[in-house]
Parts: sequence; structure tokens; C-alpha cells
Amino acid sequence: MPNLETVVSEIVDEMRQRPDRGEVARYIPELARVDPGQFGLAVIGADGTMAAAGDCDVPFSIQSISKVFTLTLALGMVGDKLWRRVGREPSGSPFNSVVQLEYERGIPRNPFINAGAIAVTDLILSGHQPREALGEILRFMQYLAQDASITIDEAVAASEQRTGFRNVALANYMKSFGVIDNPVEYTLGVYFHHCAISMTCRQLAVAGRFLAHSGRDPSTGLSVVQAERAKRINAVMLTCGHYDGSGEFAYRVGLPGKSGVGGGILAVAPGRASIAVWAPGLDAAGNSHLGRIALERLTKRLGWSIFGE
Ligand code: GLU
Repeated sequence: MPNLETVVSEIVDEMRQRPDRGEVARYIPELARVDPGQFGLAVIGADGTMAAAGDCDVPFSIQSISKVFTLTLALGMVGDKLWRRVGREPSGSPFNSVVQLEYERGIPRNPFINAGAIAVTDLILSGHQPREALGEILRFMQYLAQDASITIDEAVAASEQRTGFRNVALANYMKSFGVIDNPVEYTLGVYFHHCAISMTCRQLAVAGRFLAHSGRDPSTGLSVVQAERAKRINAVMLTCGHYDGSGEFAYRVGLPGKSGVGGGILAVAPGRASIAVWAPGLDAAGNSHLGRIALERLTKRLGWSIFGE
């Protein structure tokens, strides 16, 4: 078996030199300013060994990767009732699609497209002030990443708040079907802010460990969620984590994963490792272009695809 550190540093060297970098997200003006030349990768194994290289200590906007953690929190708060509000089928549509919501009477296809994540955020918000709900989400990230320095990038949140017209449309549309309980501007305020959490690849890889190890943080032995819940969250990541690029990601990488338009991807190798990669340039489906290629290299060289070697 090749040495993990060697594999990680060889992949980072290759990715840093590639000219094809994808396009940074432009619809959130603050993200359009990010340098697409950056690349970071961090892998933390079952025994806690971390292999990390490149820009693995540069914080980036985790965007939709936050949806994995809000789903986890919301399931903890309301349990499987959550699935009355949100489906768990792949959408086959872009992350911000409006059409599907009309056909399906305001029930989003899954918790990882924007509409679904907004509905999940609304569940977390119920019974709280927006500030408390956001604090809850941020503290959960800090706890999982074992790092209290993680913060929200206010400039990114404000940028999206000014320009997130589609998300406003999705939230209002769901509200008309009674799928959103709280005032739309409160729910969206919390949603935009949790998408604007900034983390490094190292921090994100640590935060994802419970998903790779049956719901437990192997460093403390403490249970974050039941094993069955971790398994189910991984299943939804596999089928829905990359929007209408989820099939391609499963085909090429073969791991549950969740991407964000900041260019990050969190991937889970069950029983083996939690992996975070960041390359800001995106492909046409809004997923990190080099991030996906790097993960494909990694799983191929290590034989980590869940579908076989
Ligand atoms: N905050 C972004 C949005 O709502 C998240 C999208 C993503 O990361 O895929 O559009």
C-alpha cells in the first residue's frame, strides 16, 4: 500500500501545476475575488494521523459543505420527522433550481440542494432567535473540528445576502406551501451565515471524522450521532452531495462527499479516513474541478472507493 503522505504530497504537486483550474463562483461577489491558483488537501486516518499539504491551512468559505452539519444537527433536534419536510432523492437538477419545487409542491428533493438546506435551517431556527441558532451551528462546527477559532466570514455572508435573489425566491416559494415556519428573512439570514463559515482543509477533515467512524469521534471515543445515523448521512452525501454531478462523483471517486461553491469538498472513506480538499475553481455543475480530480487520484491509488479497488 503506498504511503499516505507521499500520495498526498504527489497529488498536491500535480494539482498545483495543472493549468485547468475551473471557474470561481461569480454569483457571490466576495467569492469571485478568491485566487483560483490555490490548492489544499488534508486526510486524517482512523489512528489520527494527518497527511496534509498545499494550502491546507488557508481558511476558505465552506458554503454548502455546512449543509452536512446542519442536517446532522437538525436530525438530532427533530429526528426522522425531518424527512416529512425534505426528501432524500437525488435531484438531477442544479443546486439552485426552482422548477422542481413547483412539481413537488414545495418539498425539496433532498437536504443538500439549496431549497432543502434552507428548509433544514428553518427547522434548526424554530423556537430560537436567529443569533442563537447560528451560534448553535457555529459551536457544533468548533466542537467537531476541536478548534474554537473557527468563525463566520461576515463579508461573504453580507455579499450573499445582497445578491441571493434565487434563494429568496426558493424560500418564499416554500413558505407559500407551509414548508418554512419562520419569517423568511430570519431563515435566510441563518442560512447565508452558516454557508459563510470559514475553515481550513485540516479543520474540515477533523470535523468530518465522525462520519468516517460510525458516528464517533475516534480521538475522544465520544459519540456524535448513532452509527445508523452516520451511515444514512453518508448515503445522502453519496447520492446527493454533488447536485447533478453526484453520479459522476460516485463513478470517479466512489466516496460519500459534499461540495461547496467555495471550492471545498468533504469526502468520507468509511472506517478509513476523513478527507478535505480545496481548489476554488468549479466545474459546470458548481463542484470543485481539481478537488474532484484530486479525490479520484487519491481513492484510485489507495484503493479507497467504497465500490472496490
Ligand atoms: N450559499 C450558496 C448558495 O446558497 C451555497 C451553494 C453551494 O455551495 O453549492 O447558493
